[in-house]
Amino acid sequence: MKVYEYQAKALFANYGLPVDNSILCRTVDEAVEAYKKLGGERAVVKAQVHTGGRGKAGGVKVANGEAEVKQYATQILGMDIKGFTVDRVLVGEAINIASEYYVSIVIDRKSKSAILMLSREGGMDIEAVAKNTPEKIVKIPIDPLIGLPTFKAREAAFKLFDDMALVKQAIPVLQNLYRLFVEKDASLAEINPLVVTGEGNLKAIDAKMTFDNNALFRHPDIFEMFEPTEDEKKEQAAKEKGFSYVNLGGEIGCMVNGAGLAMATMDMIKLYGGNPANFLDIGGSSNPTKIVEAMKLLLSDKHVKVVLINIFGGITRCDDVAKGLIEAFKMIDINMPIVIRLTGTNETEGRELLKGTKFNVAHTMGEAGKMAVELASKC
Ligand code: GDP
Ligand code: MN
Repeated sequence: MKVYEYQAKALFANYGLPVDNSILCRTVDEAVEAYKKLGGERAVVKAQVHTGGRGKAGGVKVANGEAEVKQYATQILGMDIKGFTVDRVLVGEAINIASEYYVSIVIDRKSKSAILMLSREGGMDIEAVAKNTPEKIVKIPIDPLIGLPTFKAREAAFKLFDDMALVKQAIPVLQNLYRLFVEKDASLAEINPLVVTGEGNLKAIDAKMTFDNNALFRHPDIFEMFEPTEDEKKEQAAKEKGFSYVNLGGEIGCMVNGAGLAMATMDMIKLYGGNPANFLDIGGSSNPTKIVEAMKLLLSDKHVKVVLINIFGGITRCDDVAKGLIEAFKMIDINMPIVIRLTGTNETEGRELLKGTKFNVAHTMGEAGKMAVELASKC
């Protein structure tokens, strides 16, 4: 789960990290008010979106005076950044930047621990640094049993600074960031840039955090910040009904029992040159109401042209599934082609029941995939 910069900054502040003063605004008037409240001559106006690279997209502007704050807030509110529409901006005191550094903590699968990543070349071009001069990014694994005691944090801080005054300031920054990362079950905590100001102080002028979804149940304060996208809302609603659903953007809607079979079904569609509209695992059940619910979910996606139902009858018997499907489709009005592949216990009986219905019955998975792709290309 992602949070906005202003939310990450609030967490940073709670953990004693040096953040700049800033105020969240949803309108141009609020931005002007915030500017007056902050009291400085210059202020920075920053788009709040769940994506990085705002600076390069024109979503971060340093304003000189009230008129510019107004101008930039007007420009940035409503702006589209990588598919996200800006509906709020953060107005902050402008920091006098002397130099920019990169600090982050992420989970590293290789070392099976959190790692601290540091670079003296922080700022908007960190991706280029990572690509072209990866040696300029230092990676330090953090042993979970030891954590980041002062001697370790000091050693790390020297990777960023030579000046002892800055090293001293950096030690608690690294330690507090790690404490926040661990205590809130984050998967990423990033400060880019961490800046040295003209006055020689460290400031985190950007803040990025993502959290482990599987740990959200023990962090109601974090979960409160969850603002799902339309797709995520749908996935959430599906989860509540006992389905796993992921929208994939193609034209063949899939309804499958079992996650492994659902993935194999998507592969089969791809193999025959089609595109799955979704991943949908309905679990093991032939209950018609459940099938109706699953179909409604699948059909709520307007891109779907063909439905492919792939069911393996293990404990659920294929004839039961066939009856369930026939019942279910009496309840829903659908005029697009439906391909069904049933296999497993009582498959012959199941297929027999489907004979003479509007369903296109396939015997093998390959046949089903091919049929669905062909039908989709005709629509
Ligand atoms: P990002 O592009 O989404 O990572 O947004 P950042 O918050 O990191 O801002 C991008 C760049 O804008 C930073 O690297 C800074 O160079 C600049 N910037 C951000 N805030 C300030 C500020 O208060 N003063 C000045 N002078 N520059 C800033
Ligand atoms: Mn940044």
